[in-house]
Amino acid sequence: MSSKNTQAGADILIVGGGLSGTMLAVQLLRLPGRRRIVIVESRSELGRGEAYSATELGHTLNGNAARMSVDPDNADDLTQWLGDYLAAGGWPESDEQQVPVAELFPPRGIFGLYVQQRLAEARAVGARHGSTVEHMRGEAVDLQSDASGVVLTLTDGTLLMSRFGVLATGMFAAARTPQRDSNALNAAAVDPWDVNAMRQLDPGGRVLIIGSGLTMVDAVVSLEQAGHRGPIDVFSRHGLLPHVRRQPPAWPDFLGADHSIRSTRQLVRALRMQCEQAIAQGIDWQAPLDTVRVHIPRLWSQATDLQRRQFVRHVRPWWESHHHRSPPPSARLLDRFVEEGRLSIHAASLLSVEEPHSGQVRINVRYRGDDQPTVETGAALINSTGIQYDWRRVDRPLTRQLLARGLVQPGPLALGIAADPGGAVVDAHGQVSSRLFAMGPPLRGLWWESTAVTDVALQAKALAARIVTSV
Ligand SMILES: Cc1cc2nc3c(=O)[nH]c(=O)nc-3n(C[C@H](O)[C@H](O)[C@H](O)COP(=O)(O)OP(=O)(O)OC[C@H]3O[C@@H](n4cnc5c(N)ncnc54)[C@H](O)[C@@H]3O)c2cc1C
Repeated sequence: MSSKNTQAGADILIVGGGLSGTMLAVQLLRLPGRRRIVIVESRSELGRGEAYSATELGHTLNGNAARMSVDPDNADDLTQWLGDYLAAGGWPESDEQQVPVAELFPPRGIFGLYVQQRLAEARAVGARHGSTVEHMRGEAVDLQSDASGVVLTLTDGTLLMSRFGVLATGMFAAARTPQRDSNALNAAAVDPWDVNAMRQLDPGGRVLIIGSGLTMVDAVVSLEQAGHRGPIDVFSRHGLLPHVRRQPPAWPDFLGADHSIRSTRQLVRALRMQCEQAIAQGIDWQAPLDTVRVHIPRLWSQATDLQRRQFVRHVRPWWESHHHRSPPPSARLLDRFVEEGRLSIHAASLLSVEEPHSGQVRINVRYRGDDQPTVETGAALINSTGIQYDWRRVDRPLTRQLLARGLVQPGPLALGIAADPGGAVVDAHGQVSSRLFAMGPPLRGLWWESTAVTDVALQAKALAARIVTSV
């Protein structure tokens, strides 16, 4: 396993320096003990990943500052940081939201600065007891692991050895995966977060967007910023738009009080009743819904595969649009576009994408209730179908190698990879690793909700404690 490119051993090697990898490093640095942490990250900056590299001010968090702390022990952490940032003259446009700091929806790029500052502070704490963190820039393409540790290979052949490895590789955009039916879509579509590509589009041309979730919301915000003024048509199977996030009052934790609720059907029935009660009392239905979030990991991990499948099939579209809500500034923009007749949402399935013709993209869709397909044409196509969680369909060297080596196996419903509840990965033979861990989106199958800021923050703290107590 050694070569002239072999680097001195690390204690903890983290693959991926987005929010997950960075917050894990923060938590490790804060713990007593001397350890060398190396983060392998292909981007130039740590703490950002796809989500927090956003340069558009209109690409905001989908929750307000009070909900997005990265410190599980201090819910006000982001609010406090943001207050200082505003006081120092940062983000002057925040005045437009006209709400207290805790209720602001910060741009995701600014949230990235917050994460980076927490890392800088943790570095200083770690330095006091001899702990360090290094950013090794590059792409990890292979990993070997045995009872003594892990060896990671980078694209240039460099080998990194470590006692522990952590897969914090995040989300893989569906647009970049070689799914059989999305090849043509990938080739023809604009990346929903590529702000520069939006500026190149015909400003008056019709834009077709596939997918109607929060990624679509980002794309519409970018189109507006890029000066696009033409019609936008959004196609998704159910035609459901994300609801706008409001600030509902507190509501009793009905799931905490009743652990007999386990199946999808029981959950939906109970939730419906709670929402009806809330509405009857003049209270926002978001109040009872918001109490459910914290119980999802427990409910999902207790469920059978059949129950999970039922949830994905029947409840998921509804869950996505009701739970993953739009930040109010973006929702207002979408409402305005709908009122002006510029934005239309269609319940229609994408059947195929044709070769562009005379500068026009052509797609075949089937509108809900129709037997026959319809051809739709536009000046541009945006793929907002979201995230590919099935690692077998992710076309990246590291994920391929990990599967080929049998070091990981697909998680429940092939969502991410299998792991024990503490994040230790399970290999193809069902063995729980003592050296290799995962966190964040790769654990989607284990917890269902494993990507939001609060999920990642909690996992980072628990995993750091587990790693430092492992021998
Ligand atoms: C556009 C977007 C907006 C979001 N908005 C919100 C929000 O408002 N609120 C909320 O709670 N959550 C939001 N999320 C969800 C969540 O906060 C993020 O997905 C979060 O960034 C997950 O962090 P991560 O580090 O696990 O993954 P990522 O951010 O995807 O980072 C993974 C990193 O790993 C690196 N990497 C991967 N493989 C390799 C490799 N082989 N070698 C080297 N580097 C590698 C990548 O370059 C990347 O930087 C959003 C997600 C997205 C994509």
